[in-house]
Amino acid sequence: MNRKIAIVTGASRGLGRNTALKLAAKGVDVILTYRSQQGEAAAVVAEIERLGGRAVALPLDVGVSAGFPAFAATVRAVLGSHWQREQFDYLVNNAGIGIHAGFSETSEAQFDQLVNIQFKGVFFLTQALLPLMANGGRIVNISTGLTRFALPGYAAYASMKGAVEVLTRYLAKELGSRGIAVNAVAPGAIETDFGGGVVRDNADINALLASQTALGRVGLPDDIGGVIASLLSDDNRWINAQRIEASGGMFL
Ligand code: NAP
Repeated sequence: MNRKIAIVTGASRGLGRNTALKLAAKGVDVILTYRSQQGEAAAVVAEIERLGGRAVALPLDVGVSAGFPAFAATVRAVLGSHWQREQFDYLVNNAGIGIHAGFSETSEAQFDQLVNIQFKGVFFLTQALLPLMANGGRIVNISTGLTRFALPGYAAYASMKGAVEVLTRYLAKELGSRGIAVNAVAPGAIETDFGGGVVRDNADINALLASQTALGRVGLPDDIGGVIASLLSDDNRWINAQRIEASGGMFL
């Protein structure tokens, strides 16, 4: 039987990287994307190959939707050249940035950058890749705990993620006829480069968030990749149109 193939956006670092490695450990091959960190992406490919899997890293800016048809054409070519297949199985819409700005201080440029990367990108990249996704495939969109609880400075960011959660339900409805399940995973605060690495590098913020988390610490990438990989496994095939929070129990 063919090995499953997942596309994971923004997998050069952080949660995407961890997801790609957890998928590879489960026998899933990966097309991963990066925006700037080509070397880091190549290291993820090498690590997947060390695990016995196959992976390809492709450049992609999810904030520039005009590039999506060309990206889809490249994916089609890579599927043929590396896997002798015409379709892939799983899409993880993970790539993203954080901008911390109070509501009153948020500029239109910041808003547009966030909406392009965090929402428009997810919408139109998924649209561009759907013809290449096998029936019975699966989509996971990465949201955030910040859609359930509110912290000052995340009005624009969390609103975009809220839109992604609504889109998740609409995709599930429209793609069900193709057997494609669509879910959102909402991580809590995780120690990555995200937002300038503030959760990892600012001891006061780290301690504050840990004190508001039932399990008593902030998250690590290793706490998230496995959630996404297991959601894409056959064991969880009946989960559809759900928002699954993986936060260790933040702000209960
Ligand atoms: P990260 O460590 O900063 O990694 C971000 C990844 O996204 C990198 O691979 C980066 O590529 C890629 N990327 C950034 N902008 C891009 C763009 N315009 N086009 C394409 N790729 C782009 O962040 P992370 O913590 O792993 O975050 C991943 C996702 O989880 C994001 O959607 C974020 O909103 C969400 N999330 C994070 C947290 C958290 O606390 N960390 C919590 C909840 C949700 P390069 O390396 O090539 O630059």
